[in-house]
Amino acid sequence: MGKLFLNKVVKSYGHFEVIKGVSLEIQEGEFVVFVGPSGCGKSTLLRMIAGLDDTTGGDIVIDDVRVNDKPPVERGIAMVFQSYALYPHMTVFENIAFPLRVEKLPEATIREKVEAVAKILQLDQRLEQRPGMLSGGQRQRVAIGRAIVREPNIFLFDEPLSNLDAALRADMRIELVKLHSDLKATMIYVTHDQIEAMTMADRIVVLNAGHIAQVGAPLELYHKPQNLFVAGFIGNPKMNFVPVRCVSAGPEGVTVAYGDQQVTLPVVPHGEMVGRTLTLGIRPEHTSLSDGDLNITVMPGVIERLGINTVAYATLPTGEAYCALLPGSAPIVTDEPMTTGVMAADCHLFDESGLAFERKIDWRTQRLPASAAAE
Ligand code: ADP
Ligand code: MG
Repeated sequence: MGKLFLNKVVKSYGHFEVIKGVSLEIQEGEFVVFVGPSGCGKSTLLRMIAGLDDTTGGDIVIDDVRVNDKPPVERGIAMVFQSYALYPHMTVFENIAFPLRVEKLPEATIREKVEAVAKILQLDQRLEQRPGMLSGGQRQRVAIGRAIVREPNIFLFDEPLSNLDAALRADMRIELVKLHSDLKATMIYVTHDQIEAMTMADRIVVLNAGHIAQVGAPLELYHKPQNLFVAGFIGNPKMNFVPVRCVSAGPEGVTVAYGDQQVTLPVVPHGEMVGRTLTLGIRPEHTSLSDGDLNITVMPGVIERLGINTVAYATLPTGEAYCALLPGSAPIVTDEPMTTGVMAADCHLFDESGLAFERKIDWRTQRLPASAAAE
């Protein structure tokens, strides 16, 4: 149990539509991350699934039952928020036991369940302490314990790690992934942080202004973003966007011109192509100081030396920002032009409306399919 189906779900506040018809199917046991910028509707969608906010239109179906009119307690879900709202005067044990006390379970059952949960979350030595004595990470684990103890079919997490420092966030990410594999429950996790999405999700749902921009496995979104929004949101540092002009198109791909250079990209053309102004997408990690299929001269501004890599924040001659991720010892200097090479197979191409041309490359193998390579 723990299947979720959203059918054209809409949420409006007055005339303001916040969720604009979201349809999505989540399978039992999946770890799905909703990711998108602040204000795109992640919390609203999660609160509607939980039953904390009512739904303006569409259906929310949990385990084949439409739950739009059911109160939260009858939905078999538990929610963990960013601010973990523990009861400061209660011990860790009592905080975790709280929902079971509300259900009026026998004392022995409560003790057994709380101790089992505390063990999973490594809180078994802390049960008699109060939240004030715990670190932020431990407190968040208590809040998660309070959710787990109810044995819900679906867990909903709303940015649960945002209040923690970076090192603790990284640890908690790993703990949550382990917890998911132990409990095998369905988890829906909301975050604005694409790194959390990439590292934790079986599938990512990218939300943009109340719409689903794309749904897919993390590497599918990374290698085959369907639009400029997803391309810019997934990946760090962000993908570069360079204006180019289409000079020809055919079965071998689309040939674009950048200045006096031309490069043929292995993407599938559609419609009349020649003469159009398109957007070439280049990930910073696909740039190098060696010769590529396309070589772009840029002016580096800020250069960050991270040890393993160098990040160069540069500008194109036409003024757009251009970031290059280079080896740690890359011999580059601020305000001295550098030429970065990129390979055609690594590039992305978008039309005037921001839609991606389909890449022929197989995102699982990173190769061109045999048929495309032979062309
Ligand atoms: P996210 O969690 O992605 O940051 P939210 O779901 O909290 O975004 O909010 C989505 C949009 O809905 C925002 O523009 C927000 O201002 C609006 N919104 C949220 N709650 C209310 C409310 N109670 N009344 C009016 N507008 C709201
Ligand atoms: Mg939110």
